Amino acid sequence: MSRLCLILFGPPGSGKGTQAKLLRQSLGIAHISTGDMLRERIAAGDALGMEASQIMQSGGLVPDSIVNRMVEDRIEQADAAKGFILDGYPRTVDQARLLAELLRSKGIRPLVMHLKVDYNVIIARLSGRRQCPTCGALYSVTSNAPSVSEVCDYDGSKLVVRDDDRPEVVGERLRAYERQTAPVLEFLKSAGYAMGEVEGADASPQAIARRIEDWIVRQGPRAGGAA
Ligand code: AMP
Repeated sequence: MSRLCLILFGPPGSGKGTQAKLLRQSLGIAHISTGDMLRERIAAGDALGMEASQIMQSGGLVPDSIVNRMVEDRIEQADAAKGFILDGYPRTVDQARLLAELLRSKGIRPLVMHLKVDYNVIIARLSGRRQCPTCGALYSVTSNAPSVSEVCDYDGSKLVVRDDDRPEVVGERLRAYERQTAPVLEFLKSAGYAMGEVEGADASPQAIARRIEDWIVRQGPRAGGAA
């Protein structure tokens, strides 16, 4: 089968990261999260990380040129040969344009899955979100708590609240989404890609992942097929 590209689209806190982690396992393809890649650069302390860190802490978007380059390089890696899930990219129309070009040049026709979640649910979710700084596992203090409070189930690291999940930053992230990212959906629609939609808050993450898998199967030969 040809290479599968699944774009997980939705506001911050809609469950893109959680779904990508579940689908990566079941579909056996790479998970490409621009947010995780940027956080790795911040942890590495290089110049790009320093620049991104300030922008991310204010809830804004990192320049297109930086993330575009990261994604272009990342999809060439061996684990993405069979396919990849894009989580948090594209986030601007310019990023979407570049991605469309890139995919066309590789003969990949992406599938777009829109995770829809009410903003009030998102605000509550993000304030209860915890992440393992070592393995990246995501938890929720209300719906998906670790066995031992504030400790990662997989490696015992102390969980952290992401800087940008602080309430004062969440508002700005949602505004950036409305302003810069929501129009991307229109771009992807007008590109003629297969578009699916799931409610991202009315079922368990596993049940939502199954709905997404079923939808991918229903796309038949379109899934990953040449443009
Ligand atoms: P995420 O983990 O996807 O919620 O991303 C966290 C932050 O990283 C965002 O609020 C942005 O500051 C930055 N970021 C992640 N992906 C992108 C992207 N595709 N374009 C611009 N900034 C991004």
